[in-house]
Amino acid sequence: KQVVQLLSQKGDVAFRGDLEHALRFLLRHEVSSRKHMTGPVLKALRNFLHILRKHFPLSASGGTLLNSLCNYVDSHDELSGEDWKQLLSEEEAKLDSPPWSERKEFLGCHGSQPNFRGYPCSLWTTFHVLTVDALNSNSGGEPKEVLEAILGYVTHFFGCAECSKHFQEMASETMFSEVTSHEKSVLWLWEAHNKVNARLQGDATEDPAFPKIQFPSVDRCPGCRDNMDWVKPKILQYLKSIYSHDSLSAIGAV
Ligand code: FAD
Repeated sequence: KQVVQLLSQKGDVAFRGDLEHALRFLLRHEVSSRKHMTGPVLKALRNFLHILRKHFPLSASGGTLLNSLCNYVDSHDELSGEDWKQLLSEEEAKLDSPPWSERKEFLGCHGSQPNFRGYPCSLWTTFHVLTVDALNSNSGGEPKEVLEAILGYVTHFFGCAECSKHFQEMASETMFSEVTSHEKSVLWLWEAHNKVNARLQGDATEDPAFPKIQFPSVDRCPGCRDNMDWVKPKILQYLKSIYSHDSLSAIGAV
C-alpha cells in the first residue's frame, strides 16, 4: 500500500492490478447479470471481447481465456447470463495459471472510503489503455473500432444506468463525427472523461481525497496547457506515458 501511495504521489500512474480487477469484475459479474443476450447485446459483447483480446495487457493464461470466450461467443446466436457464468468458470478451470489476480483491494483506484472510486475508476483506466494501445500498435484497425466497442459495452452491460445514459449522449453528439484517427480516439475519450469530471465536481460521489479535476493537473503536466488552452500533442504524449502497456505498473498483477 505504501509503495502504491508513493508511486501515485510521484505522478499519475495506472496499475495492471486495477485493470485485472476490472476485467475480472466485468466478465464475472456485469456480463453474467444479463438474463438473455442476443442481437445487438450479443454483438456488443462479441466486439468488446475482441477488443480486449487485441488491446488489453493480458497474461498468457488471460490470452488463452479470451481466445476461448471469443470463439464461443462468435459461434453462438444467443446466450444466457447463466450459460456465460458456467462457460467462464469451466474455461478458467482449464487454465494452468490464474488469468488475473484475485486481490480484493484496488491499488491506484483505492478510495478513502469503501463507497468511493473502485470499479468505475478501473473501468475508465481500462478504456484509456485500450484506446492508447490501438494508437501504439499501429495495426491499421478502423479508428472508431475501440470506442464503438466501449460504447457497446457501456450501453448494454455497465451497471451504472446514469453513467451509461450520459456516455451514450456524449457519443452521439461528437464521437461518430469527430473520431477519424487513433489519435482523435484517445483524445475523444480523454475529453469525454473530463466532461464527466466537470459534471461530478462537488457531487456526493466525489472522494474528497481525490477531487475531480480537469485532467491532467498543471502540476503533473505543465506543458499540457498554454494559458487556458489545451496543447493536444502534449496531452497525447502524457496519456501515452501513463496508459501504454509498457508504462503500466505491474504491482498487484499476476
Ligand atoms: P475517475 O474519474 O474514475 O478516473 C480514474 C483515473 O483516471 C483518475 O484517478 C485519473 O488518474 C485518471 N483520469 C481522470 N480524468 C482523466 C481524463 N480526462 N483522461 C485520462 N485519465 C483521466 N458517475 C456519475 O456519477 N455520473 C456519470 O454520469 C458517470 N459516468 C461515467 C461514465 C463512464 C464511462 C464511467 C467508466 C464512469 C462514469 N461515472 C459516472 C463514474 C465516475 O466517472 C468515476 O469513475 C467515479 O466517480 C470514481 O472517480 P475517481 O475519482 O476514482 O476517478
